[in-house]
Amino acid sequence: MTDFNPELERRLNALRGQHLFRELRRVDSAQGTRIEIGGRTFLNFSSNDYLGLANHSVLKEAAIKAVETFGAGTGASRLVCGSLAPFHQLEEALADFKRTEAALTFSTGYATAIGTICAVLGKNDIIILDKLVHASIVDAAKLCGAKLRVFFHNDPEDLEDKLKWATDESRQPPPATRHTLIVTESIFSMDGDAAPLRDIVMLKEKYGAWLMVDEAHATGIIGKDGRGLADELGVGGQIEIQMGTLGKALGASGGYICGSRALIDYLVNRSRSFIFSTAPVPAAAAAATAAIQLMQSSEGESRRKNLRAQVGELQSQTINRQSQIPAAIIPIILGGENEASEASAKLRGRGVFVPAIRYPAVARGAARLRVTLTAAHAAEDISRLAGALDEVANHKS
Ligand SMILES: *Cc1c(COP(=O)(O)O)cnc(C)c1O
Repeated sequence: MTDFNPELERRLNALRGQHLFRELRRVDSAQGTRIEIGGRTFLNFSSNDYLGLANHSVLKEAAIKAVETFGAGTGASRLVCGSLAPFHQLEEALADFKRTEAALTFSTGYATAIGTICAVLGKNDIIILDKLVHASIVDAAKLCGAKLRVFFHNDPEDLEDKLKWATDESRQPPPATRHTLIVTESIFSMDGDAAPLRDIVMLKEKYGAWLMVDEAHATGIIGKDGRGLADELGVGGQIEIQMGTLGKALGASGGYICGSRALIDYLVNRSRSFIFSTAPVPAAAAAATAAIQLMQSSEGESRRKNLRAQVGELQSQTINRQSQIPAAIIPIILGGENEASEASAKLRGRGVFVPAIRYPAVARGAARLRVTLTAAHAAEDISRLAGALDEVANHKS
């Protein structure tokens, strides 16, 4: 026997010692405002299913119909055995929704970030990230081989410093072989705050950089019909790469890129996570297409209205947090990893499920409860949450 398992046990014990050990909790119900764990029902504030669509009858029917027509699986990569109609319907719906020339979908948002950034950039290039971008973008930035710089969270001045560095002729290879890509989210996944997209767009134009914006937590929620923050601010046309996911407000699963026809054709040719991966199941694509249609209906509007009402309700009952654009993510920062885990456990003891978010999802010492509200929550649910939070976390300080 080798020392393989003992070595892993040693590493796991180190995680336990730092209050960073994680384990899966089996859920025996669909995602919704109530979930069942170990025979107990919990009020759920952990899901990114912001509009309550993951278990919506319209999405489920679309998925079932796709299974009946196109089967359960897809057999191979879309380039190898043909590209099923539900993906094309979804991509047309996405391009129309985001007002871009074209769109491409991937099996996950993670695969989208990796496949896109690594296709677009190489070792002669520069990538500049907001400090708090999602792990998939950080991983992609490391993997693509470009020089990596990070700017302070939502800080255009610091971004400008990095852009000056990137365009400094004395330090960089000649411009013909060098491109700079800025990547940010529009609504940040762990803090729920919004990027200053107009300032960032102005800077990228000034310095001739490209821009990629991940709208994972804005699509479906922010702006007219839930088209996202870029559309709301009128800057969608100036963003080279618009990314998002299909598994959050859209209630299905997968990731997407929206942009020019040239970008999409290029990704089909060069994106390794698209090319060397079996196509996602048709059911997911059909469900996402149904969600995009629902977004633009009066039901979509009333769901967004209800979500905003729940966010307002919780803010008025607990946290006086100033935010220009109310996102559905409300972090309650506790600091210590242990404190966050204990607060989460105490809430579970009161029948309320709120995840503790710890390193490496957030910085060390910035552990938190991450409350996510959905359109499916009722005012009574919010009151119960506020009461439970009052009891377990000293969040008002
Ligand atoms: C969730 C998320 C992703 C990854 O998407 P998956 O479909 O879950 O793989 C990428 N970027 C951001 C900002 C996210 O929140």
